[in-house]
Amino acid sequence: MGRSRLVVLALDAADSRMVRKWAGEGCLPTMARLLTANEVLSIETPAAVLEGAIWPTLYTSTSPATHGMYAYLQITPGTYDMRLGLRADRLPFPPFWDFLSRAGLRVAVIDAPLTRPLGNLNGIQVVNWGAHDGAWSWKRSSRPRGLIDEVLMRFGEHPAPATCDSPNYSVRADFDFEELRKSLFLGIEKKSALLSHFLKTGEWDFFFGVFSESHCLGHQFWHFMDSRHPRYNSKATESLKSSIKDGYTAIDSALGTLLENRSSDTQTMILLSHGMGPYFHGTHLLDEILERLDINGPQPTHVISSHGVRKSIWELKKIVPKTVRHGLNSGISGRLFNSLWHWSHPAFNPWPQMRAFQVPANAMTGAIRVNLEGREPNGKVKQGREYRSLLDRLSEALMELENPETGKNAVEWVAEAGELFQGPRLSELPDLFVEWDHNTAIRSLRSTRIGTVTGGSPRTQRTGSHWAGGLLLGAGAQFKKPVLDGPARTVDIAPTILNFFGVPRPAFYEGQSLFEARS
Ligand SMILES: [Zn+2]
Ligand SMILES: [Zn+2]
Repeated sequence: MGRSRLVVLALDAADSRMVRKWAGEGCLPTMARLLTANEVLSIETPAAVLEGAIWPTLYTSTSPATHGMYAYLQITPGTYDMRLGLRADRLPFPPFWDFLSRAGLRVAVIDAPLTRPLGNLNGIQVVNWGAHDGAWSWKRSSRPRGLIDEVLMRFGEHPAPATCDSPNYSVRADFDFEELRKSLFLGIEKKSALLSHFLKTGEWDFFFGVFSESHCLGHQFWHFMDSRHPRYNSKATESLKSSIKDGYTAIDSALGTLLENRSSDTQTMILLSHGMGPYFHGTHLLDEILERLDINGPQPTHVISSHGVRKSIWELKKIVPKTVRHGLNSGISGRLFNSLWHWSHPAFNPWPQMRAFQVPANAMTGAIRVNLEGREPNGKVKQGREYRSLLDRLSEALMELENPETGKNAVEWVAEAGELFQGPRLSELPDLFVEWDHNTAIRSLRSTRIGTVTGGSPRTQRTGSHWAGGLLLGAGAQFKKPVLDGPARTVDIAPTILNFFGVPRPAFYEGQSLFEARS
């Protein structure tokens, strides 16, 4: 192959089901055109770890058990402490555009989430000008170094806040949602202008630009659209109710403009990274369930429950002083995070005394870590039969849970990390993932074994979160005939792009090129 140039425009966490629906209704003309006239592949995303692992998996064609990034907060191996899991420098392999650059191709990468500028890049990179939750992964920066200042001079700041969650972690008033909507829509306009600017320079063979506003809209505005959501308010303004659809429409029209005047040697891929749906899960009830299962035996009374620990984890952002929060917006350092962790956890951490405890993952999917002998410093569960029987007991008890409001199963599946992924860093992942039924709000859980557990609603202001599945649309000569029968996988994207340019795939890649699969 080779010779052609490739533009990949990604919509971060824009849900493919909504895109197909709204394209069908005529709201997204660019998508509708691409969906009918071109190659369309659904993407199978990695299970259970959608918030943290999707972009690292896509960039490196490796599974979370290989690259080791899966959640915002992850346990530090060999300790009971947590550390930021999604810092860009945790990525143990270079992203695929590094291989393009080394092969002599010119690359332009704008706002790819969870990345940092590469040294010796043949081309340009803009990092966290306007990416979702960019503040936590890397500071706003660029390659060449001075480029970010030029971007700021020409386009100003991205108008949305550094993180789309409300600054004091409380629920926003409708007025504040209107403000956030405005800032995200202006962000779409500015992002479009920024991408157009760099597209027009023509100084690239591979161009990669990401719209992050779809991600923020889904997390923050889902309840305005979805009448099943407990926070749905029929009296909210029409503009709030249609925020996600209007945002997708604005991005669709930006895509239309960006794809216009495309030269004949340029081919295009539109990528929907992963999905979005109502933030329905039972993770907030998992600690209580573990307690009722009595797997940890009698706890000394001075030991705070793991629920207390979790609470302080999630309130970390809220309780840190304002000056530190400013620091967070310009990129948090590992050392700063560690000092915050110890400062916010003066209480005794009960995990070393427990046999199994809940660890933060992405809430949508619950996660349990076993305090395993030989792996944890104060392991309480023996490898082998004891470990096996504990996992089996947990799985069984979790699979029995039903949602008393519907009478249906509340848990779709329970899986050991090793059933989902294989790789050298498997032992850093939680031992067990619990995938909830995401179709109904879970306010309580019931089974004969544990009785009924009620704990209000999840502790989050987000009302939408990640659902599985993405979408890949190809336009251009190389995308004319069907590539595969089945869906593509997230790990297949990087090898496909390398193959497009005839660049050899690195030995560590786990996915396959979709072009090779075809031939
Ligand atoms: Zn997200
Ligand atoms: Zn966001």
